[in-house]
Amino acid sequence: MTDPAAGAAGTGPGEADWAAAVAAVRDLPADAQVQLICHVNPDGDALGSMLGFGLGLRQLGVRQLRATFPGPPEVPEPFRALPGLDLLVPEEDAYPAPDLVVCFDAASESRLGGLVDRLATAGTALVLDHHASNTRFGGINLVDPRAAATSVVAEELLARLGVRLDAGIAEGLYVALTTDTGSFRFEATTPAVHELAARLLATGIRPGDISRRVFDTRPFGAVRLFGEVMCRARLEPTAAGGNGLVWTYATLDDLARHDQRPYVLEALIDSVRCTAEADVSCVVKQVRPDEWAVSMRSKGAVDVSRVAVALGGGGHTFAAGFTGRGSADDVVASIRAELDKALIEA
Ligand code: AMP
Ligand code: MN
Ligand code: MN
Repeated sequence: MTDPAAGAAGTGPGEADWAAAVAAVRDLPADAQVQLICHVNPDGDALGSMLGFGLGLRQLGVRQLRATFPGPPEVPEPFRALPGLDLLVPEEDAYPAPDLVVCFDAASESRLGGLVDRLATAGTALVLDHHASNTRFGGINLVDPRAAATSVVAEELLARLGVRLDAGIAEGLYVALTTDTGSFRFEATTPAVHELAARLLATGIRPGDISRRVFDTRPFGAVRLFGEVMCRARLEPTAAGGNGLVWTYATLDDLARHDQRPYVLEALIDSVRCTAEADVSCVVKQVRPDEWAVSMRSKGAVDVSRVAVALGGGGHTFAAGFTGRGSADDVVASIRAELDKALIEA
């Protein structure tokens, strides 16, 4: 679930980009249709940024406003109390040709699944993101690789639009910020991140309740499933140029046996990456018989986004993912083969 930003070099949006984005919203006709889209398998940053921004647009008087993401319209349980969920529609109910489409936390068009056509049918396509690998696929791109979360970019745009932060907006942006900074533990946790958190908390949102719901609550079946999956973790000390790899996998059968939904597995990587003896950690999650969603993390010796990109995915330097094929062993073998090429020069 956690998603540390790269801390990689790269510049954020220029004044012309901000001005274009502000104009794209301010100049909307009164009856405009606005479609918000976040990435497939949405995490806290994707949903929190999108819904927080959506509530900001609502404050500005945008009435025809919908939010969606590709794939089954199932919101993971940790996010089912987010303010603004009433904006969400299944992807088939997204506006076919909105005046404005805004994309959240998606590094590339492929993360928009079947909704990618809206980039062409929309009057204007605005991209809000913080992945260094972002392909600038919008007409207007607010992409800041130094931002800890997409919600940092979303909050700045809301401020430039004159939106007043309220508790509803703030909760989404706060969930996004805590998700992608690992609750203010990762390197991207700058003074500006804490200043943003302070502005969000000043609206009266309750960080204890929010964190318990988003990070510290799971069904008993998931607790037992995690136990099983953790028990089968493997440590390979010689992998990644001797920096070590720890990995485990979870199958559809594991989920069925414990009567759990796939999204419960998103938190697993946080337990696996604790392993002291490994720089790189990896969880391979079965999504179809021969298809696996892969989460990778690094503590600094390896650029896992390079591994992910080489294998068809993407992400940040220290948190990345891709879709793997074949058996779990095949997927791990493909990672092992890429790790040595992705070592970061000391
Ligand atoms: P996760 O391990 O799912 O928390 O994802 C970590 C990072 O990798 C996030 O920044 C994602 O955007 C990125 N990522 C994960 N899976 C993919 C994928 N299949 N394609 C592109 N990027 C991905
Ligand atoms: Mn994300
Ligand atoms: Mn993010």
